Amino acid sequence: MTDTTTFPDENGHFGPYGGRFVAETLILPLQQLAQEYANCRIDPEFIAELDADLQHYVGRPSPIYHAKSLSRELGGAQIYLKREDLNHTGAHKINNCVGQALLAKRMGKQRIIAETGAGQHGVASATVAARLGLECDVYMGETDIERQQPNVYRMRLLGANVCPVGSGARTLKDALNEALRDWVSNIDDTFYIIGTVAGPHPYPQMVRDFQAVIGREARQQILAMTGRLPDALIACVGGGSNAIGLFHPFLDDPSVAMYGVEAGGEGLESGRHSAPLSAGRPGVLHGNRTYLMEYDDGQIMQTHSISAGLDYPGVGPEHAWLKDSGRARYVAVTDREALDAFHRLCLSEGIIPALESSHAIAQAIKMAASMQPDQILLVNLSGRGDKDMQSIADAEGIGL
Ligand SMILES: *Cc1c(COP(=O)(O)O)cnc(C)c1O
Repeated sequence: MTDTTTFPDENGHFGPYGGRFVAETLILPLQQLAQEYANCRIDPEFIAELDADLQHYVGRPSPIYHAKSLSRELGGAQIYLKREDLNHTGAHKINNCVGQALLAKRMGKQRIIAETGAGQHGVASATVAARLGLECDVYMGETDIERQQPNVYRMRLLGANVCPVGSGARTLKDALNEALRDWVSNIDDTFYIIGTVAGPHPYPQMVRDFQAVIGREARQQILAMTGRLPDALIACVGGGSNAIGLFHPFLDDPSVAMYGVEAGGEGLESGRHSAPLSAGRPGVLHGNRTYLMEYDDGQIMQTHSISAGLDYPGVGPEHAWLKDSGRARYVAVTDREALDAFHRLCLSEGIIPALESSHAIAQAIKMAASMQPDQILLVNLSGRGDKDMQSIADAEGIGL
């Protein structure tokens, strides 16, 4: 057995996945980043500074919450929610941005670039850049700029430049390409904050480590609250950062099952979805080898999800490995199921979840009823739903 907790190897491989498939000009900067990160990772001063920021700026630890009403209604397992929605800026993305910003400062960089789809990672990047007085350019597809106006405005209020991307489908995949291009030409003064566990090594490892605070806290909290480990973890998977953050500290607990929930969109058979692990195959995208949605000629497919944060044709390489090894299971939830779960959590618990997180809630609802009342499901509530008011209203055909 390979020890999954020490993955990846020094070249960023998780089994056959991951790696560094980039232009020659990026190899050296990525090696320097990996070296700097390897030093910081074990530097007590860096760790203390990161912990202080997580506590005083992000608001950690985030609580876990026993969703008693929802559990009672379902009549099966007890559902606990890890409340990443209570973080500053409203989701788990800030955990990673705080960490990478500290690294940027250490490396003496003056400028931050980032890519964003729904705008959540763009907002978190603009937030940490404002705080550290760094210049910030956020690449965003023109389609996403249109459908995510409030987050575009937020980024501008925080002093960031939103750079429209007009190529391809004008969404996240295209924004990522543009950000990588910018980085190649401005390597000396620029730090590229990638928002999920994708991209070339060391990003999948680095982002995982910064998000693993979710699972470390949750493991202690559930033990303190219930005296036992959960029977299963459930998290939504876009690029996979909130899921791997929850899963990773539990990988060595064989009794804990893990479910990653992809966006099933209009159903896997419709072809309109964003579920590369459930319905894709291995290939190379954005600097790493992983499961993808691509045609036989290697062309990347158009993806669809009601939630912009899950609308991505690839997934982090560590998830590809966890799927093949069988340690984690990956399932898909449709737009409709996610919307139903969204409303149910609003009404049962008084919590308005993000549409992304609603996919995880939907999976918990599916599983809980056939389980016993002394069993535990721990669900990552990756973000709050304030940003999704317009999407919900549009989907339900009701005016805002
Ligand atoms: C961005 C986002 C996601 C998807 O990203 P992952 O890297 O898969 O975690 C999920 N939930 C929320 C609330 C998000 O903002």
